[in-house]
Amino acid sequence: MTVDAPAPQATSPESRPFEADVAKLLHLMVHSVYSDKDVFLRELVSNAADACEKLRFEAISRPELLADDPKPRITLTADAANRRLSIEDNGVGMSGEEMVEALGTIARSGTKAFIERVEAAQGKEGAHLIGQFGVGFYSAFMVAERVEVVSRRAGADEPSIWSSDGQGTFTVATADPADAPARGTRVTLHLLEDAASYAEAWTLERAVKAQSGHVPAPVYLVEAPG
Ligand code: ADP
Ligand code: MG
Repeated sequence: MTVDAPAPQATSPESRPFEADVAKLLHLMVHSVYSDKDVFLRELVSNAADACEKLRFEAISRPELLADDPKPRITLTADAANRRLSIEDNGVGMSGEEMVEALGTIARSGTKAFIERVEAAQGKEGAHLIGQFGVGFYSAFMVAERVEVVSRRAGADEPSIWSSDGQGTFTVATADPADAPARGTRVTLHLLEDAASYAEAWTLERAVKAQSGHVPAPVYLVEAPG
């Protein structure tokens, strides 16, 4: 009989609370009913494109960061059988520490202003405000019951994984290198039942066309086998 040993590099995930304004923002995202849920896709694709652009900039002084993969790329994978959608880029990526800051503990300047505007608008213009106030990542929770972000910072070896159900806490841990992008970030959305269609290619195609007209990196659409 053999006993499965834990993966050699895995650390046990530590649960951390979101910064207070972030927690409030998440609550608003989930409980305000926006007519246009497609917005989440625009936000995640634009983050992926931003990450490619940041890498291009860093690579001016450190060309080795591009390694053997110099062309920016964004890949959407629709996995209808598992009700999952992932958005992957080969951009700059994030270290575990950067994930903790960017996706949980540092409230960005726009957060408070966004909360005030959305509360005043009573849900009417929320979708439009998301992009304007730079709080886009969290719009993933409009359609997902759990979000996982696996990322490998350009120039670093060790990937990290961020995970949350958007209910007040998140975890960050060392990720399995075999299941991480060689460079960059993969955001996986475990879709809510009523958002299951975002795991279907035709819905994605429509939403990308409607939302992401001018992405400065090619966007590929892949259907997971099964
Ligand atoms: P904004 O894009 O306006 O900064 P977001 O809420 O969309 O706000 O994203 C928050 C931060 O998370 C980004 O500024 C970036 O640091 C980080 N981030 C999000 N997605 C990615 C990604 N795909 N690759 C690298 N960093 C990312
Ligand atoms: Mg953004």
